[in-house]
Amino acid sequence: MKIIVADRTDPSGSSSIEQIRRWHRDLTGGPIIGLVPTMGALHEGHRSLLRQARQECDQVALTIFVNPTQFSPDEDLETYPRSLDQDLQVARQEGVDLVWVGDRDELYPAGFSTRIDVPMMAQQLCGISRPDFFAGVCLIVLKLFHIFEPERAYFGEKDYQQLKIIQQMTRDLDIPIDVRGCPLVRESDGLALSSRNLYLDDAARQQALTLSGTLFKARELWIQGLTHSAEVCQQALEQLDPAVELDYFEVIDREHLTPLEKIDPERGAVICMAALVDGVRLIDNIILETR
Ligand code: AMP
Repeated sequence: MKIIVADRTDPSGSSSIEQIRRWHRDLTGGPIIGLVPTMGALHEGHRSLLRQARQECDQVALTIFVNPTQFSPDEDLETYPRSLDQDLQVARQEGVDLVWVGDRDELYPAGFSTRIDVPMMAQQLCGISRPDFFAGVCLIVLKLFHIFEPERAYFGEKDYQQLKIIQQMTRDLDIPIDVRGCPLVRESDGLALSSRNLYLDDAARQQALTLSGTLFKARELWIQGLTHSAEVCQQALEQLDPAVELDYFEVIDREHLTPLEKIDPERGAVICMAALVDGVRLIDNIILETR
């Protein structure tokens, strides 16, 4: 009989929950499964997640599902880009072992009524103009975690707030999954890759480019020595096309997402932004590394 007692003074340094996980893994064994959840319309950003999973796991599972619970009634659920044939080709090229195309009725059958109470950090940034978004994201991610029981799951830093919320949910609920963040992938001209870029015409794409322009400027100011967030934001936002409707542009802590008045050179920060470009909501961010 094995006895595991929660004991913070355990000389091995591992918590009792970690010990239970190890016990479970030793019993069940099997290949390391890496999960990459997406809504399809795959691009280089998604490919980078698949590649990282391919390098680090024995089996790579890709899910494609445009999740209705994260869209509000006035958003683009019905028109969200869908390109399954191309996506399957991408999956083949990236050596994916299993593609799962989700179905609304299977995931949310009649009578489905459970909701997730999301971490506090969901109430700011995107959570202000999209109040139900993160509850929907957490719900589907939790379901996918249970369905696939992966050892690792891969999410992009493109959706920085989403990544941190999922990491916190996973920690808070003792879910035995390592949630890994992958760097944001951009077009060569700086535009952050997004399935929603497909909505942009040439003029709107030019305007959208000024989002990353503001972030690059902010990073430059930070590297030059500016530390007051208000100054960084004010000067950086001069780059933004006046036709762009800014939702938020905030300097926040990299882990807790709390707003920072001043950036500590030893902690760095992240700047997250969201804006409407010709009616298309885009998000972007940049990490200000320590210096
Ligand atoms: P989506 O299909 O937009 O829900 O995104 C699926 C996953 O791909 C999420 O974890 C996103 O953060 C990630 N992702 C989307 N765009 C990018 C990008 N440009 N760079 C890195 N990851 C991305």
